[in-house]
Amino acid sequence: MIFVITGTSGCGKTSLVRLVLGNLKDVQFAVSHTTREMRSSEEEGRDYYFVSDSEFKQIIKEEKFVEWATVHGNYYGTSRREIEKKGALGDLLLDIDVQGAHQVKSRIKKAVFIFILPPSFQELQRRIKGRGQDDAGSIQTRLDVACKEIRAYPGFDYIIINDQLDKAAKELESIIISTRCKLESCKKEIAAVIRSFSEDE
Ligand code: 5GP
Repeated sequence: MIFVITGTSGCGKTSLVRLVLGNLKDVQFAVSHTTREMRSSEEEGRDYYFVSDSEFKQIIKEEKFVEWATVHGNYYGTSRREIEKKGALGDLLLDIDVQGAHQVKSRIKKAVFIFILPPSFQELQRRIKGRGQDDAGSIQTRLDVACKEIRAYPGFDYIIINDQLDKAAKELESIIISTRCKLESCKKEIAAVIRSFSEDE
């Protein structure tokens, strides 16, 4: 199953996704393409595929993205190849923005949409300032965008309020596990059990 995890900048979704990837088996991360500069803590192919503007535009032209968007002045997109390759290995987590989530919704029928909310605007402001990643202008842009993006939450299947990271991770893990137990998700396993009943007659 594809799990689309969306939330405003600074809501903690990247830390949340990392924690869940470490805690749960058979969960993959869909690595996005981006034109933004690599941060010192990041690694090519693990956090993002870092590409130039022209490379990104070429991928758009070739229609190789499932979704893409401009976020805070940079391009971000999820390739079809990444979804096919990683999705074949198990559950797949997409950490994407609201615009991307809307595109996935219109293109992929079977996906679970999860919106991560910060506990309050004040806390979001504190977190974005505290991570020291952005200059004053960029902080203001992220906060302005957050105020608009937050209105999208009613279109999502699940909401997680990320007050405490561990609690939020447990909630995300519970959503993934409960989706695995749905009739639709485990038809093969059920069929094997049912077959075993008739084999013994
Ligand atoms: P950051 O630059 O802080 O890693 O990410 C900025 C924003 O871009 C985050 O909200 C993140 O979820 C979003 N993002 C990351 N990858 C993708 C993607 O492939 N598609 C879209 N639409 N948004 C993405």
